Amino acid sequence: MTLKRDASGRLDIETHLTAESLMDKRLLAASAVGAVRPILPELRVIKIGGQSIMDRGAKALLPVLDEIVACRPEMPILITTGGGTRSRHVYAIALDLGMPTGVLARLGSSISEQNALMVALLLAQHGGIRIGHDDIPRLPAHLAVGCIPVTHGMAPYGLFEEPPAAGRIPPHRTDVGTFLLAEVLGTPRCILIKDEDGLYTADPKKDDNAVWIPEIEVNDLLTRDLNDLPVERTLLRALSHAQSAREVLIVNGLKAGDVTAALRGERVGTRIYRD
Ligand code: ADP
Ligand code: MG
Repeated sequence: MTLKRDASGRLDIETHLTAESLMDKRLLAASAVGAVRPILPELRVIKIGGQSIMDRGAKALLPVLDEIVACRPEMPILITTGGGTRSRHVYAIALDLGMPTGVLARLGSSISEQNALMVALLLAQHGGIRIGHDDIPRLPAHLAVGCIPVTHGMAPYGLFEEPPAAGRIPPHRTDVGTFLLAEVLGTPRCILIKDEDGLYTADPKKDDNAVWIPEIEVNDLLTRDLNDLPVERTLLRALSHAQSAREVLIVNGLKAGDVTAALRGERVGTRIYRD
């Protein structure tokens, strides 16, 4: 970038983006100047599944929170929350009432917020603190005093949510929201706590022949085009384009020790990675 004075004496900043439409394909490809600077690379970004953990109540959630609290002295942690069954209810009602995708996204986000509030309060005695997405830049202050910040996982598209290719369910929900937080904060791994050992060839709750997949490259997974997935397809696309986050780990929160292993960077659950 250079400062330049034009004939009238006005100072201007001349950059390679000046006077461009920002649509030119070659210009876009060349726009990545240097590497992305990781903001909080040591942070662990971990989502507590709505349907798979929260909705099972104390017996599923409290052991997960105990593991997170026990790990907190070892590493900074940011918790996000899913929506779960109540999101499904409100989507079904809103669909019946003819609501567009953007309204469903807004409704889903408020359920994820309810779960974030409860998780933060359950962790209050251990530094649990409810934060909104606008508070993300204040994370370093919360982490420095040992807090465990909790935010809702829903990607904040809200009313601006893009209609999906099929149907009207918001395509960007709490898995991709959590992943995008990990990506912008420069953390290499994003952890999703669910109720199965990870990814299978089909939903293990519906298909007895489903085979567990310990790890898979994200573009291979996209190519496989599985009929059902434990994560949003938008997450897979985001991971395939990510510049900081390298992998998503899906772990079983109903199995003692899996959350701890995931937070410590060990191999557990299914690893979906980007080459
Ligand atoms: P969350 O609790 O984070 O909202 P979901 O209920 O949306 O999680 O997704 C997890 C569920 O997805 C699992 O409990 C599982 O039954 C289902 N599922 C569907 N397809 C698959 C698959 N291919 N592999 C593993 N789980 C799958
Ligand atoms: Mg889900």
